[in-house]
Amino acid sequence: MKTSTKKAKILDLNIGLPYITSLEERVLSGGVVSEDEALSLIRLEGEDIYNLMASANRIRNHFKGNSVNLCSIVNAKSGLCPEDCSFCGQSAHFETKAPVYDMIEPEKIIAAARKAKEMKSREFSIVTSGKAVEEGEELERLCTALEQIKSEGGLERCASLGIMSRESLVKLKDAGLESFHHNLETARSFFPNICSTHEYEDDVNTIRMAKEVGFETCCGGIFGLGESLEQRVEMALTLRDIDVDSIPLNFLNPIKGTALENRPTVPPMEGLKTIAVYRFLLPEKDIIVSGGREVTFRDLQPMIFTAGANGTLIGNYLTTQGSEPERVLTMIRDLGLEPAGY
Ligand code: SF4
Repeated sequence: MKTSTKKAKILDLNIGLPYITSLEERVLSGGVVSEDEALSLIRLEGEDIYNLMASANRIRNHFKGNSVNLCSIVNAKSGLCPEDCSFCGQSAHFETKAPVYDMIEPEKIIAAARKAKEMKSREFSIVTSGKAVEEGEELERLCTALEQIKSEGGLERCASLGIMSRESLVKLKDAGLESFHHNLETARSFFPNICSTHEYEDDVNTIRMAKEVGFETCCGGIFGLGESLEQRVEMALTLRDIDVDSIPLNFLNPIKGTALENRPTVPPMEGLKTIAVYRFLLPEKDIIVSGGREVTFRDLQPMIFTAGANGTLIGNYLTTQGSEPERVLTMIRDLGLEPAGY
């Protein structure tokens, strides 16, 4: 017992405030945090988590200023997905209460975009369930909606449509899509534990292709699936390697009927520490804390920004309710921050 306390003390001395501050200084001057250094940060405990967050907050402020990117989504096609992602209420492999419907009319997508603008969203994302949107009627509906949303202006247009062909991506770009979202979900080494119906490489290639077509890319994952802290660093390094622009970080909100319905949510301080490590590893990127914010952080939600995030989702999630938009805006302004673009 005595020996382990002593060991912990020695570790504290090695990886304490001076260590965190030296990495912060390096990042602020354009340097890079190595894998080993990131692993030492993700293993921090106790008081050091507060020190880590303070540094991550300064890094956020240095690269992102006081603006917060707000994203809104519309669930344009819901349920009956043939994929078996273990956390997802929309997978046909599970019996859940998630709504089931085909691709909605363009008018409904356009109406959701107008609502997003009212909520002071900077980005509007059209999300569909399924492995990919089909060419033909489904794709046409999306293109019609995108053209109209573009002509009305004021929103960055994003979509999350699965593993698309290059031809479809080009068509969407011509219709006005600016950013393509596709999550890796988790680390490569953990992915077989959460999905057996497609390969990790399919997801990586989708993002690479979207970049080649000329899209901004939005790509992240979900924590609390049973992955280790080290695997969270692994995913961050993959995202750094692919060089995505925006990183949505979701936290599991266990959905009844899915394979992960009984998993505990990520402890709030562990979640904040994870956000902070992502800011150290991806200092110039947009880090958007999305699904599971309310259930994971509860009253600590404002701390996602002081831990390094510079964006969040406003409005409802795909199959679960979000906070009142006015509450989210008040939280942001109370922190001295401002919604980007307004
Ligand atoms: S996460 Fe996406 S691909 Fe996976 S089951 Fe859900 S809708 Fe399908």
